[in-house]
Amino acid sequence: MSDCLFCKIAAGEIPSNKVYEDDTVLAFRDINPQAPTHILVIPKAHAADSAAQITAENSAVVAHCFEVIAKIAAQEGLDAGFRVITNAGAAAGQTVPHLHFHILAGADMAEKLL
Ligand code: AMP
Ligand code: ZN
Repeated sequence: MSDCLFCKIAAGEIPSNKVYEDDTVLAFRDINPQAPTHILVIPKAHAADSAAQITAENSAVVAHCFEVIAKIAAQEGLDAGFRVITNAGAAAGQTVPHLHFHILAGADMAEKLL
């Protein structure tokens, strides 16, 4: 999508602090980190606006995002644990309508969901 921030980041039109990249997925550090480690994992293609639009046709990239998340967790040494969050819709706090997964680690999140 031409006017989508994360499509522009995926295309290299807006710079990002890259952590991982392959043909279909990009991961980069969040510009406004909410934890000592805060990484965003996105499909490069605008597969969906959010988790609300995942279907049998586009879910393969979601599985791939989670393979990438496991690789990044190992690469970043997140052995003590990490959290994966995806916000879907404004009421959930989604500000960028391009499917993405937050990896958060390094803060004490034990037993708190929010
Ligand atoms: P969400 O609120 O779930 O849609 O997440 C969007 C995330 O994108 C927020 O955590 C923002 O801090 C982050 N963000 C916005 N612009 C950029 C950018 N140019 N580079 C990296 N992260 C960004
Ligand atoms: Zn997009």
